[in-house]
Amino acid sequence: MYRYLWSNGPKECLEFADYTFEEHFGKPIASYPPREVLWDYIAGRVKKAGVRKWIRFNTPVRMVIWNKKKKKFLVTAHDRPKDRMYTEEFDYVIAANGHFSTPHTPFFEGLDQFNGRVLHAHDFRDALEFKGKNVLLVGRSYSAEDIGSQCWKYGAKSVTTTYRSKPMGFKWPKNFEERPLLQKVEGRTAHFKDGSTKEIDAIILCTGYQHYFPFLPEDLRLKTANRLWPANLYKGVVWQDNPRLFYIGMQDQFYTFNMFDAQAWYVRDIILGRIKLPKADAMKKDWKKWLKREEKLADAEQMIWFQGDYVKDLIDATDYPSFDIEGVNKTFMEWEHHKMENIMGFRNNSYRSLMTGTMSPKHHTPWKDALDDSMEAY
Ligand code: NAP
Repeated sequence: MYRYLWSNGPKECLEFADYTFEEHFGKPIASYPPREVLWDYIAGRVKKAGVRKWIRFNTPVRMVIWNKKKKKFLVTAHDRPKDRMYTEEFDYVIAANGHFSTPHTPFFEGLDQFNGRVLHAHDFRDALEFKGKNVLLVGRSYSAEDIGSQCWKYGAKSVTTTYRSKPMGFKWPKNFEERPLLQKVEGRTAHFKDGSTKEIDAIILCTGYQHYFPFLPEDLRLKTANRLWPANLYKGVVWQDNPRLFYIGMQDQFYTFNMFDAQAWYVRDIILGRIKLPKADAMKKDWKKWLKREEKLADAEQMIWFQGDYVKDLIDATDYPSFDIEGVNKTFMEWEHHKMENIMGFRNNSYRSLMTGTMSPKHHTPWKDALDDSMEAY
């Protein structure tokens, strides 16, 4: 989470059903919290659950191998402080290492000669670095939108985003524009697909991420792009070819924290034997049905309802506290509408918690003027 990052969606859409923002902060808070506030909330949940003691920090997993004979996973981990590799046996493995960290970095002609700053969104830290600069962002998704908006907020001279498929289409402020795809860079001049050019000082590749599992061999490794329904996962979590391996949070996301929870509850119940898995054929048929439906989704609105249905499906099968999914979907719709209305002002809106029913108060400062993202200033 880079400096000055604020949630880009309403917190009402990601609230944990069994640990509300009101419970954590002891009062209602505004709808779009900055990073420290969100972090504090997550940390509070971890503390309440008492799970920290189960985590081996500084111990990356290096390899997971399925031993067919023993019906066990052999997991090799690296105890970094002791610089020691060791192997243990496990009955189940859950890969929950995220998929928004390893950059996807396409090459554009002249990028290697460009003498301004070139970086991927992953390495973006502080928008103040780009104050007074002409910044070019490649991409048209959430990172391009958010990092571009940050650069604008902290005083970039101009912000240009360049898109491959279609423009984002928001009502951008005066010194913020969208251009067709970058073709090449010559010196400090960027050339675009429509033949236009622009002088730029920095290029930020907001070109997304790769699913990356360096610890998994071929037979266990999920291969997918960033989409709402990755293939080979029953209920979006069970590895078809070896149902003792699970993946959590591998989908592209509108729903986040509470979807991850629903997935975790579901996986837990399989492990505890409360949910019986159907035969391989039936599992395949089920995830293919979802995949087929996903392939027909035409816009963000349909994607949100699709993911809402998925979360509901998981919650219905477990004892995760049920919540108003339709209400969350509708809050997402309002959010989309607020963004189209005012891209630099949508974070000033408030929404009602679907968990507690409380309406969020307005934040004391409009987002574009709130330059300090610390907990104290909040
Ligand atoms: P993303 O949603 O996967 O988008 C990747 C973008 O890169 C797409 O616009 C894609 O274009 C473009 N792209 C890929 N290859 C390209 C190429 N060769 N040439 C041109 N464009 C190319 O990734 P993301 O925007 O980094 O978002 C990742 C996640 O981070 C999201 O879940 C988002 O919500 C989160 N995020 C959150 C915040 C926040 O909370 N404030 C801020 C930033 C990001 P096409 O669309 O044309 O395919």
